[in-house]
Amino acid sequence: MAGIYIHIPFCKKKCTYCDFHFSTTYHVYRTKMIAAICSEIILRKPYLNVDSSNPTIETIYFGGGTPSLLNKKEILTILNLIKENFEIIPNPEITLEANPDDLSIEKLKDFKAVGINRLSIGLQSFREEDLKWMNRAHTAEESFNCIQLAQQIGYDNISIDLIYGLPNLSLAEWEQTVQTAIDLNVQHISAYCLTVEGKTALKKWVDQSKISVANEEQQSEQFELLIEKLEKAQIFQYEISNFSKINLESKHNSSYWKGTYYLGVGPSAHSYNGNTRSWNIANNINYIKAIQNQSVWFETETLSAKDKFNEYLLTGLRMKIGVDLSKLFKIIQAPKSFSEKLNEFINTAWIVQKKEQITLTKEGKLRADYIASELFL
Ligand code: SF4
Repeated sequence: MAGIYIHIPFCKKKCTYCDFHFSTTYHVYRTKMIAAICSEIILRKPYLNVDSSNPTIETIYFGGGTPSLLNKKEILTILNLIKENFEIIPNPEITLEANPDDLSIEKLKDFKAVGINRLSIGLQSFREEDLKWMNRAHTAEESFNCIQLAQQIGYDNISIDLIYGLPNLSLAEWEQTVQTAIDLNVQHISAYCLTVEGKTALKKWVDQSKISVANEEQQSEQFELLIEKLEKAQIFQYEISNFSKINLESKHNSSYWKGTYYLGVGPSAHSYNGNTRSWNIANNINYIKAIQNQSVWFETETLSAKDKFNEYLLTGLRMKIGVDLSKLFKIIQAPKSFSEKLNEFINTAWIVQKKEQITLTKEGKLRADYIASELFL
């Protein structure tokens, strides 16, 4: 089984905290970009063909950027091309990332008609003041209304993105945000702590002391409250930042974490086929030109055993299922220093071990990336 990711590098506005790859001046080359993405789907088809047969596609994911800026015809063109070139399971999970301001009744109906069966809505907050400083293109009312509208139209697999650790967000206000998400009865929630990325307006404001983000203690309090409240509402954490009702985990994202193969098309998209990882150039015009000329538009690296070991460790620790040590040691028999470090984390109660399985404790989840990096070979 495998997945296909399509990166749509367009956005209406630049959010102040975002360092993803996108452009707000896409109107002039929109048609060329869709054509280039379609060409790449055909040109990169052999990438997944590592065992002399193309794996069956289980999930398709439109991410970005803002894929909800696409129209029905553009989505259908891409989906039809994927269907013509790959074998696909019946009823694949087809996700589209959407921003609330794009989700009119017509668009929601259009997306449903072309086969989108999972919406991942980047609403980030239900508070008007947050959305304003973030320079989001939607209002708090739109954050709220788009979910109800999507539900009325028949979407039964909706995910929302929320951000915590925001400037001036009290614990009580965060609790209210989480409660609103629960009350809206969505199937899946992705919640990320605000990070200050380089070359963003947020970074500039923080450096100039114009704005201050939550400190570590406040971030931890908000994260713990999130886990606790969602669990009580039967929305379970299955990955550090991802929560879902039973059996409604994101199949596409889970496949990244479980090491399933995927082909990523579009500028800045990444691909993985078990042996290599590749990444497309993160420049829209150069991407289009390179595809048109069939010159090089991506770089590839062959994964060493050490890369595979570290990657499985990092993704496994972030997942509820954890890391299977026998599987890990099949990649490389780890040195004594690994066991010593692991025991240290078990003694500090950041990791628990049950037979061959290691998982992070509640305390450990607050430091997942640090723990993994300390265990890396
Ligand atoms: S809409 Fe999403 S991808 Fe676009 S700038 Fe905002 S956060 Fe970034």
